[in-house]
Amino acid sequence: MIYLDNNATTKIDDKVLEAMMPYLTTEYANPSSIYNFSKKASNALKESRGIIKDFLNAKDEKEIIFTSCGSESANTAIKGVLNYNKGKKHIITTKVEHPCVLNLYQVLEKQGYKVDYIGVNSNGDLDLEQLEAAINSDTALVSIMWANNETGVIFPIQKISEIIKSKNPETKFFVDAVQVAGKIPMDVQEMGIDLLGISGHKFHAPKGVGALYVNSKTLITPLIVGGHQERGKRAGTENVPYIVGLAKAAELAMDGLKYELTEVKRLRDKLETNILKNIYNSRLNTGVSNRVPNTSNIGFEYVEGELILLHMSDLGICASSGSACTSGSLEPSHVLRAMNVPFTAIHGSIRFSLSRYTTEAEIDYVCEQMPKIIEKITAISPYQDELAALKALKQK
Ligand code: PLP
Repeated sequence: MIYLDNNATTKIDDKVLEAMMPYLTTEYANPSSIYNFSKKASNALKESRGIIKDFLNAKDEKEIIFTSCGSESANTAIKGVLNYNKGKKHIITTKVEHPCVLNLYQVLEKQGYKVDYIGVNSNGDLDLEQLEAAINSDTALVSIMWANNETGVIFPIQKISEIIKSKNPETKFFVDAVQVAGKIPMDVQEMGIDLLGISGHKFHAPKGVGALYVNSKTLITPLIVGGHQERGKRAGTENVPYIVGLAKAAELAMDGLKYELTEVKRLRDKLETNILKNIYNSRLNTGVSNRVPNTSNIGFEYVEGELILLHMSDLGICASSGSACTSGSLEPSHVLRAMNVPFTAIHGSIRFSLSRYTTEAEIDYVCEQMPKIIEKITAISPYQDELAALKALKQK
């Protein structure tokens, strides 16, 4: 099996599992209890909070809230800010956010909020002029992802924060950083971020744990109300084993960042260059630079993405397509649509996402197999005239 779908989820690192094991077995105490038995759990919780603080370069451990996933982090941040600032009704986001953000805004629009959706160009880059023009005195929140899950395109977070603060210093800035954790350096202070969410299962921790950074100047109303855990900002007995796993994964990510930025990128570039060179009806759906090092989104013109994935799957290769099959109709990706990817390529777009476990031999195998797969599928495409014209154009 060759796993190139690491933006969907990742393998748990053995060292992460090892770090978690004592807290899944013998050290099961509730960290809030007062007897000695709970000391190990409460110390582990404290230590993990410190590691996540360092991972994000937050100022204070108190700014870290543990959650169950990236979606919970985003919901807590967005609803938390809006419920605390009841009077303000304007929100700004982008057309290419993850559904955990976009679907929440649809709900909020029904409740009377006005949401502006900022567009992107064909490289996937954000329209900063449109963003600047949209901010006004009623803007409670700007919520923008750091990198896109489908394309890997990185948004200029520091620049965006400067624009926001210069137009309305009271507007809060939430960053969905789920797809950058472990892939590029993160520094919430340098970037001027008020709230930021991450998710463990995207960087080799298990599913079911995430974190939310809320800087000390930002007040939120809690989403989950109950006990006083997480300084009253997220009730529920802390999931100590998974939090320990998240912290271990963050430690490994900090140590492995250089490898990610050099080796993982080199393998991604090798795969991409090979496909683009050897398959005439392929196109890169983004610009070349300004992306996280592990992701490549490639469109194959006049063929169907699901069919490509099935052929890949037969060879043990896992990747994903931009389309989601909903109620029998193929709905093309909202991200690729916002980028105006031509309709000839949008249905045949594949996301390859690598990890530190991806090997050279695996990439060589995928490079060897992809032209054969695409040739087979292209041969049965109903668009033979268009394909011949495309081939002639590419050969020129
Ligand atoms: N944000 C982005 C950019 C994502 O890619 C994802 C997951 O794919 C999420 C948020 C949601 O994370 P989780 O699955 O942990 O809820």
